[in-house]
Amino acid sequence: MSGTQTQVIVVAGAGPAGMAVASALSKAGHEIIILNRDIKFGGLAEYGIFPSKLKLRGGLKKQYWELLQQKNVHYFGNVSIGNGKDLTVEDVRGLGANAVVFTIGAQGTKAIGVEGDSAQGVFHAKDVVYHFNRLPGFGDRPFEMGKHVAVIGAGDVMVDIAHWLIRYKKVERVTAIVRRGPVERKYNPKEIRSVCANMDLEGIKAEFERIKDRLAKVGQNSGEVLKAFTDEFTKCEAKVSETKMGFRFLASPKRILVDGNNRVRGLEMEDNRLDPKGEDTVAVGLKAYYEFPCDSVVFAVGDKVDETVGLPYKNGMFTTNPNKTGNDPDDALFQAYDESAGKVMDGVFLAGWARKASEGLVGVAKRDGDWCAEVVERYLATKAGEGDVNIVLDRLHARLRQRQSRPVDVNGLRALDVAERSFVEKSDCIGEFKFSANQEMLKCIERGRV
Ligand SMILES: Cc1cc2nc3c(=O)[nH]c(=O)nc-3n(C[C@H](O)[C@H](O)[C@H](O)COP(=O)(O)OP(=O)(O)OC[C@H]3O[C@@H](n4cnc5c(N)ncnc54)[C@H](O)[C@@H]3O)c2cc1C
Repeated sequence: MSGTQTQVIVVAGAGPAGMAVASALSKAGHEIIILNRDIKFGGLAEYGIFPSKLKLRGGLKKQYWELLQQKNVHYFGNVSIGNGKDLTVEDVRGLGANAVVFTIGAQGTKAIGVEGDSAQGVFHAKDVVYHFNRLPGFGDRPFEMGKHVAVIGAGDVMVDIAHWLIRYKKVERVTAIVRRGPVERKYNPKEIRSVCANMDLEGIKAEFERIKDRLAKVGQNSGEVLKAFTDEFTKCEAKVSETKMGFRFLASPKRILVDGNNRVRGLEMEDNRLDPKGEDTVAVGLKAYYEFPCDSVVFAVGDKVDETVGLPYKNGMFTTNPNKTGNDPDDALFQAYDESAGKVMDGVFLAGWARKASEGLVGVAKRDGDWCAEVVERYLATKAGEGDVNIVLDRLHARLRQRQSRPVDVNGLRALDVAERSFVEKSDCIGEFKFSANQEMLKCIERGRV
């Protein structure tokens, strides 16, 4: 702890991890400057979590508003960090803050790496989620789905995509494509309630019949597994469409098959078996291929960080200190590390999905932010002298003016909030009104429609 010294910390990113860092360090009396790409705070809490989860989203929003009211918290929305953006990483480091924490999430897209992945009708889950949550840049772009959508993945994001396809797009069929078996499903049983009214139970039974011998080889009884699987289909949300949802297990897409117009017409699938691996299993390709007909494909297989930001990067992750340091070896995990220079980036830290892409729910990101704040506190305690927030803010304003950026502060956010509420009668399928273009939001903010 830095005693009575007030220091200045820049937090890049205002998602759950960044807000946790900001909250902990502001409570410790430091001055916090938040720089956020989106005009609005919240990150995936605003633009990822399914729109109908009003209680969760509302609770987070309330906490974040409270944080931004604090005198020692300075919010700059609409400020993107990266090469050619409002500020580079070096600009941010050059502002003179005592520490900088990057909590910018996992904005990169994992290369799908199957032939045909640029065909019309192939989508990445993150883009689809951003679309239905109306993130500027995605909200107004058409995401035209066909009649039969294959969603690759077995986690909560797969369920969210299915939810949207069933409830709002009302497609004919959704099939979750799962590399391993039903036992290895990753979604939370509570999440399946949003789609279970639409389950094609006969189709699911037939699918279990198809794979029962392969399940038996790893000691899984298909009858018992089917029961456990379908027992989770309780408290289903009311049915609003005739969409049928099914599963294809032990299946790895190898190629996207297209028609003469480069539009998806199916997937070339490889059948897998399961092999035991300790307590777990692994999928092993059987080199037996077949065509699976569908006309749209959504890959819900997780994300990676954005390597173009300018932070040291390797294998989908920003690099952190490989050398254990100090009293607490975990501190190293939060320190940005430049492998080419072979050293820690002094005073630069990472937390949340920027540190571990696609890892866990809001609670996990928040805990990561809390831990990171402790690490930053230990770091600040080793540094002499106070920080001067006015100097840092002056430099920041000057840089943003130079770049002709249009930052949005907390008063701007308030004006935007009032304006959006006043449009509520125009609310679309997501049940609330949101502008889906930065220009519209900025116009509203500048008009100060309070
Ligand atoms: C589809 C989906 C559904 C989910 N549903 C749930 C759920 O129901 N319940 C639950 O608990 N969790 C859910 N999660 C998980 C949860 O959203 C994450 O755990 C959490 O948001 C991660 O927080 P974060 O702060 O690390 O990153 P993010 O939430 O991604 O926040 C990153 C922030 O950084 C900013 N940023 C990005 N790039 C830059 C840049 N270059 N410069 C400046 N700022 C930048 C963004 O504007 C954003 O504000 C869901 C996730 C997804 C993808």
